[in-house]
Amino acid sequence: MPPTTPPGSDAATPRSHAVVIGAGMAGLTAARALADTHERVTVVDRDTLPDGPEARRGVPQGRQLHVLLARGAQALDELFPGILDELVGAGATHGDTQNDAHWYLDGHLLRRAPSGVFSYGASRPLIEHRVRARVTALAGVDVVGETEVLEPVTTPDRRRVTGVRVRSRATGTAKTLDADLVVDASGRGSRALTWLAGTGLPRPTTSRVSADVAYVTRHFRREPHHIGGLTGVAVVGFPGMPRGGAVLAERKDRFAVVLFGQFGEEPPTDHAGMVAYAESLPGPEVAEVLRTAEPLDEPVRTRYPASARHHYEKLTRHLDGFLVTGDALCTFNPAYGQGMTAAALQSLTLRRLLAQGTDDLPRRFFRAVARVVDAPWLLATGGDLRFPEAEGRRRPVDGLLDAYLTRYRAATSVDPVLGRTFLTVAHMVAPPTRLMAPGHVLRVLRSGRALRAASRRAPGGRGGTSR
Ligand SMILES: Cc1cc2nc3c(=O)[nH]c(=O)nc-3n(C[C@H](O)[C@H](O)[C@H](O)COP(=O)(O)OP(=O)(O)OC[C@H]3O[C@@H](n4cnc5c(N)ncnc54)[C@H](O)[C@@H]3O)c2cc1C
Repeated sequence: MPPTTPPGSDAATPRSHAVVIGAGMAGLTAARALADTHERVTVVDRDTLPDGPEARRGVPQGRQLHVLLARGAQALDELFPGILDELVGAGATHGDTQNDAHWYLDGHLLRRAPSGVFSYGASRPLIEHRVRARVTALAGVDVVGETEVLEPVTTPDRRRVTGVRVRSRATGTAKTLDADLVVDASGRGSRALTWLAGTGLPRPTTSRVSADVAYVTRHFRREPHHIGGLTGVAVVGFPGMPRGGAVLAERKDRFAVVLFGQFGEEPPTDHAGMVAYAESLPGPEVAEVLRTAEPLDEPVRTRYPASARHHYEKLTRHLDGFLVTGDALCTFNPAYGQGMTAAALQSLTLRRLLAQGTDDLPRRFFRAVARVVDAPWLLATGGDLRFPEAEGRRRPVDGLLDAYLTRYRAATSVDPVLGRTFLTVAHMVAPPTRLMAPGHVLRVLRSGRALRAASRRAPGGRGGTSR
């Protein structure tokens, strides 16, 4: 149970101090939003925060390939104008997601064409480093490392948060940081559910859809001739082929290559095994990079069990002054690359709501971010629920939708308009309903003849997989 502030000490609480738990992408972008309305913002992280773009212990996923989706790039630029140019200046790449990359959907190569949808390739440590530098430079914002948040502190009636109890990892001493707003951005391991239980408030329900993904990332030297100068390749797994891979130019001279497997498929970490695994994928590019590029480090493996979403928006009572954001609110199967984008969009929502005042903020915030999270949740869990092994709630309409989208994916190999819409949705620029627009349904229905012709041209292959 969280400690309470002694009666009478409320008066000493500064009215405009916000504390953010966690200096990951969700916490840093939330701090940016809070800085507009709060005199002081303190972001606390238990990690030692590096001065440069280095991976750190508290964000182990930082060693894995991270793509910044088109909508996430736009959102970061709204929060930190000019940051995309900074990233590119620091070596990041960007490319037209349809024209400069190969996408294999259900084994079909999506037809390339200029789309105007741009995504970014950069290591997660570089993105976080640049964002952290911008947040640290904001007036009134402190980013403090080596400080662990133990629990929130509340009023005696446990209705409102008044700060957090923290412990310095350097000295072991604990103290209370008073605050009128606390934002939990402590990631997947968030203890918010336990903390809330301690206040006697109802616990939100949680939706889970198993992803059961094993991930292996390794970095390679990128040379201009590799994969025809493309900036990325994505081979998406599908039922019957629960394995995939991706190549991303995360610098002009460096590729991140990831192999992943779901529901028991385990990508190996030895070089020969990785090449053989990549050779089993529908497209040749991932294997080509593994075979021909110079490795720059050792492969790093990680696992991700399930997408999980905590439904704070359904609670009828909230702890006043306490918000939860980023992975602490909702995490998605990382193969869809949505986490940083969802976090930045939640922070834009927070900024919009704060501009309207702080009254009833938790209820307004959780309702609004539930709408933000709906689309990526639907995309990630919808993709995973196609696998019969996936555990999670299936809706009666899913079978029909899946049949349509299976046909849609195939049709992207012959119709670039369908491919563009697919990628706009996958990059969270357009809502998933766009895939079902009447004009698109017609295009999907009419794609049969072109697919059959493509299939005849591609010896022994699926329609459209040849280049
Ligand atoms: C394998 C993998 C690959 C991914 N690939 C992509 C991708 O391609 N694109 C993409 O957009 N997203 C990707 N993601 C998701 C992305 O990393 C996160 O969704 C995103 O960074 C938001 O995370 P966060 O800030 O909420 O949490 P985190 O990044 O986990 O940060 C939480 C922070 O809180 C700190 N903390 C935790 N507890 C405490 C405490 N008690 N006190 C103080 N500090 C605390 C931690 O030290 C950490 O710094 C991937 C995730 C995984 C696992």
